[in-house]
Amino acid sequence: MGRDTVLVIEDEADLREVLAYNLKREGYRVVTSHTGTDGLQRCRDEKPTMVLLDLMLPDLDGVEICQQIRHDPAVKSTPIIMVTAKGDESDVVLGLGVGADDYVTKPFSPKELIARVKAVLRRRLADTEDEGDRVLKHSDEHGTLLIDPVRHEVQVDGETVYFTATEFRLLRYLAARPGRVYSRDQLLRAATGDDTVLVERNVDVHVRAIRKKLGVHRDMIETVRGVGYRFKDTGR
Ligand code: CA
Repeated sequence: MGRDTVLVIEDEADLREVLAYNLKREGYRVVTSHTGTDGLQRCRDEKPTMVLLDLMLPDLDGVEICQQIRHDPAVKSTPIIMVTAKGDESDVVLGLGVGADDYVTKPFSPKELIARVKAVLRRRLADTEDEGDRVLKHSDEHGTLLIDPVRHEVQVDGETVYFTATEFRLLRYLAARPGRVYSRDQLLRAATGDDTVLVERNVDVHVRAIRKKLGVHRDMIETVRGVGYRFKDTGR
């Protein structure tokens, strides 16, 4: 297998260069584009391993590009990290809603960016494995959390803790992809199915209940201000 290719769609020349430089240094092949239309075309031509997508572009905006990629059978599962300006949480929520995998907020350090790229690629690998009913196991400095879909059971440091059906689905959904941010709306749909109408605030109530049950592991579910929640990526 060849090197992973990252397509960078960014109209600011300086930022484009910084991104390309740091990605290349990590061994990635980099293709760049400075407009949305061209970026979309390159995505189709190059079939990159991943796309870094600026949200504010002169022609097509990032959300539109994200949507188009997700609707194109040839490239629809390409991981996308959105690059956004500080304070654009509503755009982030919109982007996650149309299928972006993650986002970074300007200004960001090269180190942070590379960590995100690697985490998204790691999750993509995990996604290709048979997800099915595998037991999710997460460890942190406090101990181990086991989520068993078949037995519908959560074990916190060897002790079985009771979770309601909704809490269990939410926890399993978050824990299946550590580090990935989900908006409240995405979590609601994951936990309840499309047919149930629930208020987004309810997610906060469920998360609060889940955290309480996780005890010392409560910090495994992280709040992403203005956006939603994610399960801590401990890299283990
Ligand atoms: Ca821009």
